[in-house]
Amino acid sequence: MEEEYSSMEGLVDLQKRSIRLSKSVIGEEEKKAVSNVLDSEYLGMGRDVQLFEKNLTSFFRREAVCVNTGTSALHLALQALGVGPGDEVLVQSLTYVASFQAISATGARPVPCEIDSGSITLDVNDAKKRLTEHTRVVMPVHYAGGMGDLDEIYDFALENGLRVVEDAAHAFGCSYKGKKVGSFGDIACFSFDGIKNITSGEGGAIVTDDDEILQKVRDARLLGVEKDTHKRYSGERSWDFDVKMQGWRYHMNNIMAAIGNEQLKKFPVFAEKRKELMKRYYHHLLNLDSIELLNHDPDYIVPHIFVIKLKKHDRARVREYLEMVGIQTGVHYKSNHHLSFYSNEVLLPVTDEISSQLLTLPMHPDLTLSDVDYICTQLKSCLVS
Ligand SMILES: *Cc1c(COP(=O)(O)O)cnc(C)c1O
Repeated sequence: MEEEYSSMEGLVDLQKRSIRLSKSVIGEEEKKAVSNVLDSEYLGMGRDVQLFEKNLTSFFRREAVCVNTGTSALHLALQALGVGPGDEVLVQSLTYVASFQAISATGARPVPCEIDSGSITLDVNDAKKRLTEHTRVVMPVHYAGGMGDLDEIYDFALENGLRVVEDAAHAFGCSYKGKKVGSFGDIACFSFDGIKNITSGEGGAIVTDDDEILQKVRDARLLGVEKDTHKRYSGERSWDFDVKMQGWRYHMNNIMAAIGNEQLKKFPVFAEKRKELMKRYYHHLLNLDSIELLNHDPDYIVPHIFVIKLKKHDRARVREYLEMVGIQTGVHYKSNHHLSFYSNEVLLPVTDEISSQLLTLPMHPDLTLSDVDYICTQLKSCLVS
């Protein structure tokens, strides 16, 4: 570090560096598409949303229903399964609070479980111990695009009559044993918030082949107004209708979908770039004593975030050091069983140990290979200092 930045040029360079942890990548195509929607003066849920759903359905080879966030996708999927007060949902504690909020929004209780320390995905054996007569659903979270042993989770669900709602917010375009996430299994929920693998500004989707669930989420996203989706896609409104369930204002609008449609076209390029960056990180960080990489297969993953485990170092110091040299880092996540709203007596020692080691390094399609080289050089010099 001293050597590299002892010269004046070095210092100027140092001051210029500012590497963001994550960001949206937006081009002229998205701007044009949004502008077209604005010109049409039909901003609500209409043609563009219908097209985005059609495009996603071809992508997954299963029906996709779009909503306004990934959190509402999870909430509606659970509601459509009839999950409510008195029910329990098994979920890893180490996830974004969205997974927990979606469960508690139904009135059900999220039951925090341990993670597998290698993949940071749900530890099935721990989940098995927390099974009760109230358990209805298991919610695996595809952390950083990794699925862990998803087959084992499906076996566990099948044996115990549970439904599976995959929190696939990190896993758009990832595959498991050669199959695209969302194209198989029970129900998968995706997020298109600003920094996910593709974005629609904010947004989400429920993907399943269960027709009853599809119909319920289509109605529930529009205040429970029966068959309103069909009406809106024909440019009409429902004036005479019935409502038979609690609904929400969770639909996606044309402005969002217009962005999503352009992003989906670019996804192959984004995916290639994210994979390339991940491989570059692996190239630099594999086989270091003090860093452990997650047990994920870079060939199957389109990484939304790039996370490492610091085995020996104080994370706060490492983050401070990297911040000083212009590198933003993150922590995914603070475990939910430590949040006041969800805290209970549960002890999750593996989660606590691992979560203190996790450090997220920059990952987005505008990052360059030379940025990754710089990040890894800085990280390594911090670890030996
Ligand atoms: C982003 C995310 C969500 C929720 O998605 P939003 O679109 O932000 O509501 C849910 N779970 C995980 C793990 C996420 O990262």
